[in-house]
Amino acid sequence: MSHRSAVTAALVVLALLVGGRWMMGRDPAETVAQQRLGVGPAPAASPAPPPPEASPTPSSSPAPTVTRTPKKPSGPRSTIGPLGTKRTTGTKRVALTFDDGPHPEWTPKILDQLRAARVRATFCLVGTEVRKYPALVARIVREGHTLCNHTWHHELDLGTKPPAEIKANLEATNREIRKAVPGAKIKFFRHPGGKWTPAAIAVARDLGMISLDWDVDPQDWAKPGAKAVHDRVIGAVRPGSIVLLHDGGGDRSGTLGACPAVLRDLKRRYGITLLR
Ligand SMILES: [Zn+2]
Repeated sequence: MSHRSAVTAALVVLALLVGGRWMMGRDPAETVAQQRLGVGPAPAASPAPPPPEASPTPSSSPAPTVTRTPKKPSGPRSTIGPLGTKRTTGTKRVALTFDDGPHPEWTPKILDQLRAARVRATFCLVGTEVRKYPALVARIVREGHTLCNHTWHHELDLGTKPPAEIKANLEATNREIRKAVPGAKIKFFRHPGGKWTPAAIAVARDLGMISLDWDVDPQDWAKPGAKAVHDRVIGAVRPGSIVLLHDGGGDRSGTLGACPAVLRDLKRRYGITLLR
């Protein structure tokens, strides 16, 4: 019996360590996000926005520390953020979003990978890029992905402007998307940098769009390399997560390099769903 007890004890310790590591993967990220709130330009009306996707803050993985923090309750998370944005899928399956495109080099390669993995995603499009590369928007739609309005020119401060200006911006973007794909369904809006304001969310709602947030941000825009992008996604993801990645706005070779393993691992662990 003593041998069996020892084995049991070893298993318990192992379980604690594994549990601790799993917790660690996301808690420091959340802490970093919270710390950013104090120094970032987030509006006061926004109690818990995600970290800005285009923040100049240098990204660095928080040093892991082994803790024995008891596991948090694993009940269902709210799909709706504090300001009314959609933050999770509402199911176990996770969703992928690609921002700042379309881009002539990276978007086709991302689309190739999604097609190979039989995965569909949401593309948050910038109006000026849509105007330059309408054929890519057509391909995104043809291959069954979902569209999201990401403003006309990635205006980080759009949400602070008068509602009429926000409306004109989002309408111009939707118009450009529908020039590329007549009748295209644009169900979502994502504010650049996640700098949500009640005004921006309300205007988007009036235009029939849900404000689409995220809860996993590997900061691929800062080009940390494919391995870091993969490890950050897998370390932070939870059931129902919405993952923020970028197919535009710069050199996305790291994101592209991370994609095969990210797609494989997310499919295996959670399944990948399409937001629509
Ligand atoms: Zn963006």
